[in-house]
Amino acid sequence: MINPDIETDEIKHKWNTFFDEYDYNDRINKLRSYYPDEKSLYISYNDISSYSSEFTESLMRDPYTYITIGEEYIRENIGLYNNKIKRINIRLENVPDIPGIKYEVRNVRSSNVGTYISISGIIRKNTEVLPRLERAAFKCPACGEFTYIGEDYQRLSEPAVCDHCGYNKSKLKLVPEESEFVDTQKLEIQEDPDSIDGTSQPQRLSVIMEDDITGTIYPGDRVTVYGILKADQKRIGNIMLTEFNIYLGANNFKKETKDFENIKINDEDEKNIIKLSKDPNIIDKFSKSIAPSIYGLDVIKKALVLQLFGGVRKLMKDGTRIRGDIHILMVGDPGTAKSQLLRYMTLISPRSVFAFGKGSSAAGLTAAAVRDDFGEGRWTLEAGALVLADNGFVAIDELDKMDQRDTASMHEAMEQQSVTISKAGIMATLKSRCSILAAANPKFGRYDPLKTITEQIDFPPPLLSRFDIIFKLIDTPNRDNDSRLAGHILTTHRIGEIYRSLENNNLDIKVPDEENFLPEIDKDLIRKYVSYAKNKIFPRLSNEAIDILRDEYIKTRSSSEDSIPITARQLESTIRLAEAAARARLSQMVTINDALMAKSIVDYYLKEVSSMNGKVDIDILNTGISSKQRNELEIVLSIIKEVKEEDKKAPEIDKILEILKSRGISKDRAETDIAKLKTMGQIYEPSNKRIDVIK
Ligand code: ADP
Ligand code: MG
Repeated sequence: MINPDIETDEIKHKWNTFFDEYDYNDRINKLRSYYPDEKSLYISYNDISSYSSEFTESLMRDPYTYITIGEEYIRENIGLYNNKIKRINIRLENVPDIPGIKYEVRNVRSSNVGTYISISGIIRKNTEVLPRLERAAFKCPACGEFTYIGEDYQRLSEPAVCDHCGYNKSKLKLVPEESEFVDTQKLEIQEDPDSIDGTSQPQRLSVIMEDDITGTIYPGDRVTVYGILKADQKRIGNIMLTEFNIYLGANNFKKETKDFENIKINDEDEKNIIKLSKDPNIIDKFSKSIAPSIYGLDVIKKALVLQLFGGVRKLMKDGTRIRGDIHILMVGDPGTAKSQLLRYMTLISPRSVFAFGKGSSAAGLTAAAVRDDFGEGRWTLEAGALVLADNGFVAIDELDKMDQRDTASMHEAMEQQSVTISKAGIMATLKSRCSILAAANPKFGRYDPLKTITEQIDFPPPLLSRFDIIFKLIDTPNRDNDSRLAGHILTTHRIGEIYRSLENNNLDIKVPDEENFLPEIDKDLIRKYVSYAKNKIFPRLSNEAIDILRDEYIKTRSSSEDSIPITARQLESTIRLAEAAARARLSQMVTINDALMAKSIVDYYLKEVSSMNGKVDIDILNTGISSKQRNELEIVLSIIKEVKEEDKKAPEIDKILEILKSRGISKDRAETDIAKLKTMGQIYEPSNKRIDVIK
């Protein structure tokens, strides 16, 4: 409502002089020519504040009144001209993000209601764009004339009497064809996790967009929204409550550019970062600084350091994108510190999101179109973890418990780094350019070294192959290792206990062994270093690095006759890791050493998860069966078929074993093969000691 104590004409006069003095009349005239393609007049905050500080202050304190009157002034001057011009918006530009205007979602209070403020964060949801009544036309049943009412968001106001004949015996009838509508859309903005201290839950605020700015912001976008903080009375049915919901009526918005970074780096920080980068063992130093309370796991920690930095994202001339983000999966026994590592990496990675495979929200890991309370009947598009972590990092624990629906969209999210939703009135492609660190537990509780990785996790192999690196963590009793691990954990606890008692007693004494448990580089500096490197360093492959990567690739490919040890995917992973290694050194050039380090990590993981009898075979990862084994399975199957042809009945197992032995397949292996064919559903045992093929 326009404040009734305010002198409307006085404000109109002020707008008038402002438009004259600051040359806005040309723009207003343009608006008339281009209407309704252009419906908004953008006014620079700087102009207003140099025009009059008093006017600026009143405008920011009571924006609804001032803006509405300004819009009315413009309409009167140009609009009544041909009756076509209905809605004109005044939108403020270049509003400074200063205290008193800019607020964190968590600090917005009732005293801000009605004022002009700005909020920054990430968009979590948006609804469809739908029309809402703005100027409702009510027809009088007695005289047939129309009474017009200006409508606000949500609740319908109706006239009590007819403006023309005063009729009030029954309700006047709403006539949509004679009414005016405005496009409206509701968004939910969530504060940026980087701007709050890691642990607390990010707060959210609803935003209403209207008219020409609807349909321009999507979930996952990082924005600053400017507008009027509004309060809306809660109600249950027709009973009005005393509490209010608050929302931001958007006046304007700004999308953050790609380079936007919340982490502030000053000159002093920059000096420290550059000094640190000169350390020849910088990568080791980083990996020792990752979760020092977790013992061992050196290769994994090193890979996590490289993941922090990531490779270089590339955009080819034909529009193809190559991702730079590195995806890592850890599969393993319970209690091997997987979850601990995920938490730690979430703390030190800029723009990080932590999620569980089985998400708590409808959006799950990727995104979803839902119809919930938020949309008030409209379809709502909601971003999941991978979209919210766009341009950042996402840790997913218990990935094996992922929803079926997510499994389908994970491929796209991991490789194309986008999530496409097409459902009901919603059709959108959301960006999910983030690196993924996931942990999964084996299907049967414990990792079985005799089974392939594909057999142990409920996971489609194509999805597995999207990870650049897969680690397995096996918890096998080993005297030496156990004693060192136990010693490490016990010391961690003892130090923790001492910290605790120091805290209570305010003592300042030296903690024994502390130095082994402090990260060499502290978390804050790591975050700054990473953010600096990712913004400034885009390493290129040196000729030497290219040569060595190519030679090694060819060498590995030709090292085996009956299997394919690696594919182009692994080469790409190696390149990403090599680029990350260069970045970690703040070097614009990928050297031979970077390439070799990357190669050693890839080799390590392939040996761990895709080798059989010491031989690496990528098919174990891609399909769960090595190519050699597959050949053997085919032989076994064809022999069973042959014997069946000859005997005209289901062959005896012993006979098959006998024949296979003569072909050089031992009894043990043949039995495993038969068992495998059974689980694959190729053969079955109709009676004891006999097998038959399933048609
Ligand atoms: P997971 O997620 O793999 O089941 P957790 O991360 O929950 O395992 O770890 C269980 C506990 O065991 C944690 O408190 C962790 O600190 C401890 N732990 C496991 N492995 C190590 C290790 N290598 N060094 C130190 N602590 C460890
Ligand atoms: Mg766990």
